[in-house]
Amino acid sequence: MPTRTLQRVIAAIPTSDGAGVKLQRSLGQSNWARLDPFLMLDHFSTDNPDDYIAGFPAHPHRGFETVTYMLDGHMRHQDHLGNTGDLKAGGVQWMSAGRGIIHSEMPQQEAGRMRGFQLWINLPAKEKMKAAAYRDIQATEIPVVELAGGGRVKVIAGTLDSDGKRTPGPIHGLTTDPLYFDVELPAGVTFRHALPAGYHAFVYPFEGSVAVGAGGAQKILATHHAGILSDGDEVEFSGGPDGGRVILLAGRPLLEPIVQYGPFVMNTREEIEQTVRDYQSGTLTTTETAGA
Ligand code: MN
Repeated sequence: MPTRTLQRVIAAIPTSDGAGVKLQRSLGQSNWARLDPFLMLDHFSTDNPDDYIAGFPAHPHRGFETVTYMLDGHMRHQDHLGNTGDLKAGGVQWMSAGRGIIHSEMPQQEAGRMRGFQLWINLPAKEKMKAAAYRDIQATEIPVVELAGGGRVKVIAGTLDSDGKRTPGPIHGLTTDPLYFDVELPAGVTFRHALPAGYHAFVYPFEGSVAVGAGGAQKILATHHAGILSDGDEVEFSGGPDGGRVILLAGRPLLEPIVQYGPFVMNTREEIEQTVRDYQSGTLTTTETAGA
């Protein structure tokens, strides 16, 4: 199989969510801008508290996972189970909504920079109604690997295979087998990594740019663009003229129908209608089969 090339580019568009948090949405801006199993990618990046201070008050989810990676800032998660979690700079919250969670995500600062990502990863049909669960992963639990040729990788999910050494990240064993790396490269330095053929993958630069592809087939991918990769068994990209910092995501596609209604993602319209009834009757998060 060849090295993956840049196949399609989705420019992030400014939008707002929650109680008015300003963010940039690339994946998930429409039903056609998904990449199975990835449903949505939101990037928030601002020094202006007015852009984030209202946060995300209590809201529900069902049927997928939300992964929040904080680059700068401090948010507090609270859910209906009474769990609270602190999301601090460099940390990740990996939440599986399963059959239902009602939670809030609120800034714990009144000034300063807030920067990070929220990624939605779909769950397979047979796992959509499992119990909700989450993991708070501190920055110190995320391996940082310096590359021999320059640059460095933070391994959030999957395993980095570099310079003859394998470095597993804290997240493993999910059906979608996600790989989630934060890769920083000086200008002209190349990062090359194996990715299973058939897995869907994309790159999102959030500082500088990268040139994606091997040798003469390189194409520049600018800041705030999701670059969807063609199939292949490895990925290759180099830091642009001012260097580049990207998140690299890959995962096993589920190849199942998707029916989404806001924060609910199921396989059929009937399941979505049931979900809305469960939410309205207050049984979204309970283990009883609603309506039975
Ligand atoms: Mn949420």
